[in-house]
Amino acid sequence: MTNGVTNIMLDCGLTPKQMAAKGIRLASLSACLVTHSHKDHCKGLSAVTKAAVDTFMLKECHTAIGEKSHRISFISPREAFRVGTMAILPFELEHDVPTLGFLIESDGGSRAVYITDTAFCSYNFKDLEIIAIECNYNSIGRNIPADVARRVYGSHMALEQTLGFVKANMSDKLKEVRLLHLSDSNSNEKLMREAVQARVGEKVKVTVAEK
Ligand SMILES: [Zn+2]
Ligand SMILES: [Zn+2]
Repeated sequence: MTNGVTNIMLDCGLTPKQMAAKGIRLASLSACLVTHSHKDHCKGLSAVTKAAVDTFMLKECHTAIGEKSHRISFISPREAFRVGTMAILPFELEHDVPTLGFLIESDGGSRAVYITDTAFCSYNFKDLEIIAIECNYNSIGRNIPADVARRVYGSHMALEQTLGFVKANMSDKLKEVRLLHLSDSNSNEKLMREAVQARVGEKVKVTVAEK
């Protein structure tokens, strides 16, 4: 891009209509990073690649989705690559299909991490300014069938895990914690935001991503 701005889309789980409604202009994107093959993370892949946006994902993810486009490149855990003015480091997460998290560092030294759809994160990072992290559920519901419980609790992040990651990755640089992927049926947004805010202190902004 000529103006030096690097715009990266993290996952593409919206339909073209939903993207348009949110004012997302695909033409302004430098790249799209896809974490894994579940529909809520890649529904918009066709539209993104057709808009000539370079898109990065695991080979296993590509095989599972089955989308063919020369805009798709394969990446591997712990092998860094560049998009414009950003260095990207993918790392493995713990989900029910192969899944990546991303550490994104600008040439100016700002660091952000994107972690979603994982039971926990076994990596820690220094000097993060932004932590965008899953906070899926805050309590185990009573009426959840056993198979659903196994899937959700073995492959998504509970508030306790989110708090643990935030605590282990706190630094003076931290500006924002953004909570992602809240369960429709088993999350209390207010309780989660307050618990994270209490952990990071008032100087750090805590936000909840729109569903
Ligand atoms: Zn998933
Ligand atoms: Zn998901």
